Amino acid sequence: MKEDTGTVKNYDVLIIGAGPGGCSCAIALKDTGLRVAIIDKATFPRDKVCGELMHRKAVETLESLLPGFEKTFKQFPKTLVLKHTQINYKGRMIKFDWKNESYTCPRMDLDNFLLGQVKEHTPTDVFTSTQPDKITVTNDGVTLTIKGSTTVFTGEIIIGADGANSIVAKQLTERTLDRKHYLGAVRAYYSNVKDTKPDVSEVFFSPKFGLNYLWVFPVEGGKVNVGFGLLSQNIADQKINLKETFYKYFKDSPELSAKFKDAIQEGPLEGFGVPLGSSIGAPSGNRFMLLGDAASLSNPLSGTGIGNAVLSGKLAANQVKTCFAIGDFSATPMLQYDDELQKAIVNDLVASYKVQRSLSKMPFILDVVFWLGKYEKVKKYIQSMV
Ligand SMILES: Cc1cc2nc3c(=O)[nH]c(=O)nc-3n(C[C@H](O)[C@H](O)[C@H](O)COP(=O)(O)OP(=O)(O)OC[C@H]3O[C@@H](n4cnc5c(N)ncnc54)[C@H](O)[C@@H]3O)c2cc1C
Repeated sequence: MKEDTGTVKNYDVLIIGAGPGGCSCAIALKDTGLRVAIIDKATFPRDKVCGELMHRKAVETLESLLPGFEKTFKQFPKTLVLKHTQINYKGRMIKFDWKNESYTCPRMDLDNFLLGQVKEHTPTDVFTSTQPDKITVTNDGVTLTIKGSTTVFTGEIIIGADGANSIVAKQLTERTLDRKHYLGAVRAYYSNVKDTKPDVSEVFFSPKFGLNYLWVFPVEGGKVNVGFGLLSQNIADQKINLKETFYKYFKDSPELSAKFKDAIQEGPLEGFGVPLGSSIGAPSGNRFMLLGDAASLSNPLSGTGIGNAVLSGKLAANQVKTCFAIGDFSATPMLQYDDELQKAIVNDLVASYKVQRSLSKMPFILDVVFWLGKYEKVKKYIQSMV
């Protein structure tokens, strides 16, 4: 084994986290001539607890950055194409037929695929199994030390794309977890589930649990990804055990208990947090930007965040280009990123949050929505909110 001699690695941009957000940011910087490093603590391929539904927004953004992306992704053997969604409530069902397809892909494979795109199409230096330790920001730049190593990374800008437990956010902002804007969620894989189709995603609302829904998303290999999320405030106030509640959901729902009668759980039920975009705090500052879950950009109504992670990766890359063009990496020009994020993502998420809160306080609205759901206009409105 070679001895670590304490090297200094100099870059222009340090991206922390190689999830969908970090990868899209690296891809968006591919033709800038900037020296970019992407640093992730995990060893790839690695899993990420997720429902694994990839909305159009993610695919369209990646296509805009890397023409031909969607075709390559569709041909990836782990990708499933989704054409329909069924929403179930009290024995009734609304079916949406998507004009443009969405996808599912296990995160173990999706994130490795995206990192592969970074390696193939960009000059980015990729450092996995590399755990950041201390970030220092001065007027001259950013330095980053690595746990268990004497290597030091330097850059002009650091991008926090390191997910819900972002150390960039922890070290460079005053953020604290706000339970009113955070979901606790669990997910398991099942096989042998009745009446599932590889191109249909399903969502089940239970009157017992108010608004919160359980998803059943098909994934490759004949399995489904099943999960459930609740507002952390409700979990704390009502002392809810999320894992027990997950299994109770099946028992309490006649449709689900029939559907999962002979199902086999494949692997453990795992949990993770979902930071919601209804309250995001400052996503940038002197020499740094946050994106994706590190910036709290998941949808309060659907819990989805891959699309916003990818889009915010693109917006952060645009801001990086501006900063290098004007030679200013301070907090003031970064505010432009906050504005772009607000316009492109956050305004919609705040609207979704209001809908989510109204529905959970007044679940009878769901009865009305289901009654009105037969009308195309209402269907289109629901589609635009998730
Ligand atoms: C149960 C559940 C279900 C969900 N279902 C969906 C869904 O169906 N569709 C959807 O669109 N979204 C879903 N989401 C949300 C989605 O998972 C996230 O919004 C999305 O992964 C955010 O992408 P990201 O790139 O910002 O962060 P992540 O995907 O979390 O990637 C962060 C990366 O940073 C790395 N990292 C973490 N900490 C450090 C560190 N200290 N140093 C270096 N690297 C670090 C990690 O290893 C990882 O590679 C779900 C979330 C949960 C919890």
